[in-house]
Amino acid sequence: MTARITPQPGIMQIDLYQSGKATVDGLSDVVKLSSNENPFGPSEAAQEAFVRAAHELHRYPSTDHAELRQAIAEVHNLDPERIICGAGSDEIIAFLCQAFAGVGDEVLFTEHGFSMYRISALAAGATPVEAKERERVTDVDALLAACTDKTRLVFVANPNNPTGTMIGGNEIARLADGLPPKALLVLDGAYAEYVEGFDGGAGLVDARDNVVMTRTFSKIYGLGGLRIGWGYGPKPLIDILNRVRGPFNLSQAQMAAAIAAVKDQDYVTKCRVENTRLRAWLAEALAELGVPSDTSTANFILARFASEEEAVACDAYLKSQGIIVRLVKGYKLPNCLRITVGDESSCRRVAHAVAGFKEAR
Ligand code: PMP
Repeated sequence: MTARITPQPGIMQIDLYQSGKATVDGLSDVVKLSSNENPFGPSEAAQEAFVRAAHELHRYPSTDHAELRQAIAEVHNLDPERIICGAGSDEIIAFLCQAFAGVGDEVLFTEHGFSMYRISALAAGATPVEAKERERVTDVDALLAACTDKTRLVFVANPNNPTGTMIGGNEIARLADGLPPKALLVLDGAYAEYVEGFDGGAGLVDARDNVVMTRTFSKIYGLGGLRIGWGYGPKPLIDILNRVRGPFNLSQAQMAAAIAAVKDQDYVTKCRVENTRLRAWLAEALAELGVPSDTSTANFILARFASEEEAVACDAYLKSQGIIVRLVKGYKLPNCLRITVGDESSCRRVAHAVAGFKEAR
C-alpha cells in the first residue's frame, strides 16, 4: 500500500463479499440453491412493467420514489413519508451505518448475522461487535450485555440468515426497550414475507422511536437481479437517511417492476405457500438421511452435518451433481450447508443427491 493509496483504517478488514456462482465447470444441468432466490422468479406483472419501462431509458428517474413508496405504503398500511427506497436492502444498511456510526462507534449484531452488517460498519469507519447466539437463535440477553455507550446500531434479521430461525415480537420489544439511549435497533425483514401474517416489525417501528425496519424485493418478490429494497422508520430518521442517499439511486425500470410486484400480493401468497410446503418436505427428507436442521421460517434451511469435513465433502458432491448450495463457514457455522428451498424438482434432486452422498460414505 503506497502512502497515497491508504484507506481509512477499517477498510482493509473488509473481506470481499462472495456471491453464489450459478455454474459448475463441465456441467450444463445446474441448479443454484445458494443465494436464497425465489425459484419461481418474479411475477409476470413485474416482468411486464420492467419491459415497458425500457421505452423511457433516456429519462432520469424520479428522485423521491414517490410512486413506489405509495405502493408499498398501501400494501403494508404504512405512512409513505416514513419509507426510503434503496438499491437492495444492502444499500439501506449502508445508509444507516454511514449516517449513524462513525469512528469510535460500535455496530452490534449476532455471531451468525448477515455479513453486510460487518462490511457496512467497517466501511463507515465504525467497529463491528458480535454477540453470541443461543443454539443458532438470536439471544436478546447477549445482545443487551454486549451494548456499551458506544453502541449506535444493533442489527437483527428476523428471520435470520443463515440460521433461518426467528424470535418473537415480545423478545424484539424487550431488546428495543433495553438499548442504551444512543442505539437504534434495525430489524432486517428480508425474509419477513415467508412468515404468514408477520409485519417484519413495522408495528414496533410505530410504537418506538428507536426502531427501523429494512425490507427487500430480492427474496419472495424474485427481483434480486434488480436491486430494490426499502426501509421504514421514524420520520426524522428517514430524513437523515435521505441526505446520505444519492438522488438517482433507483432507476425508473427498477421502480416500475417493484410497484407491479408489490401490487401482486396473490403471487406473494402463492410463493409463500409453496415455500412452506417444500421447506417442510426438504427438511424432513434430509433429517431422515441423518442431516438435521433447525425449524426454518425463511426460504432456506441450514443443514447440519456431523463435522466440517462432512459438510465440505457433501458440498463438493452436490456440486458434482450440478447442485450449488452454500457453505457457511464464513458465518462461523463450519459444519453446515445453507440450502435454498427450490421448486419441487430441485428439492427432490437435493434429497436424492444427499442420499447418494451418504450411501457413498
Ligand atoms: N438482509 C439479509 C438477512 C439478507 O439475507 C440479505 C440478502 N442476502 C439482505 C439483507 C440483502 O438483500 P438485498 O440487498 O438483495 O435486498
